Amino acid sequence: MTVAWITHADCRRHEMGEGHPECPERLDAISDHLLSTGIMGLLAPFDAPLATPEQLGHAHASLHVRELFAASPAEGYLQVDPDTAMNPHSLQAALRAAGACVLATDLVLDGTVERAFCAVRPPGHHATRSAAMGFCFFNNVAVGIRHALDVRGLERVALVDFDVHHGNGSEDILGGDDRVLMVSTFERGLYPFSGDDPRAANMVNVGVGRGSDGMALREAFADAWLPALNAFRPQLIFVSAGFDAHFADEMGGLRWTEKDYAWITSRIAEVAREHCAGRIVSTLEGGYSLPHLARSVAAHVRELAGA
Ligand SMILES: [Zn+2]
Repeated sequence: MTVAWITHADCRRHEMGEGHPECPERLDAISDHLLSTGIMGLLAPFDAPLATPEQLGHAHASLHVRELFAASPAEGYLQVDPDTAMNPHSLQAALRAAGACVLATDLVLDGTVERAFCAVRPPGHHATRSAAMGFCFFNNVAVGIRHALDVRGLERVALVDFDVHHGNGSEDILGGDDRVLMVSTFERGLYPFSGDDPRAANMVNVGVGRGSDGMALREAFADAWLPALNAFRPQLIFVSAGFDAHFADEMGGLRWTEKDYAWITSRIAEVAREHCAGRIVSTLEGGYSLPHLARSVAAHVRELAGA
């Protein structure tokens, strides 16, 4: 199983100030761990290209794209929301992060690789059609999904989101698009305080209570995700891979472990083998406890590689 590893040095240059949890060191922790454990040797490396305004326009209002280009500061920080800021490199990093999902989609659909993991930041799943928020500027996974549908001509694409936070931006962009099925888990009552009332029939939202362990993930998969995925028969599966539901991650209150991330990745791979020749495009979302993020990504990628 060939898995692409897509990243870019520009993704390290975006930072939002001293002590911000969504920091460049997240990517260092991941790549250091994958190198030292030999897992990186299983992967085929690719540089993320810049997403084009046209590619972004499949998921975002053109005004949102133009405003972010115009807002990019020449020096210092520009605060976008209370938690989200741009430095002079943020726009370039955000374009690489979205471009990674486009390249991943092309590599998988062209058969160059069976699967791809985008090790990118800023993350994307809180970015709505018209707004940056929650550490996110462009909705990377939604840009990839719309590329698969609008440009590559797929008819049914699934999105699995297991970040501790609800993917409100993905729901905003993809809700009501019947070519997409989005299944997700998230901690109820946590930022961005959405998801309990799905906005459209193509959203399968499973909110779980604070303190829930991996059993809640297993129940969500068996009772809600799997029946919906089997009925939908996706031609490609995208994953918004956030690792902040880990028990050691203080961003949320769930209690998942590396073993849970390996387990859910293995289940997603089974669904992919059943319906879409194993094809998966996964992209990094949250995960802020650096050693646990690194080990969780390793568990995820190892399962993607079938190793
Ligand atoms: Zn998150």
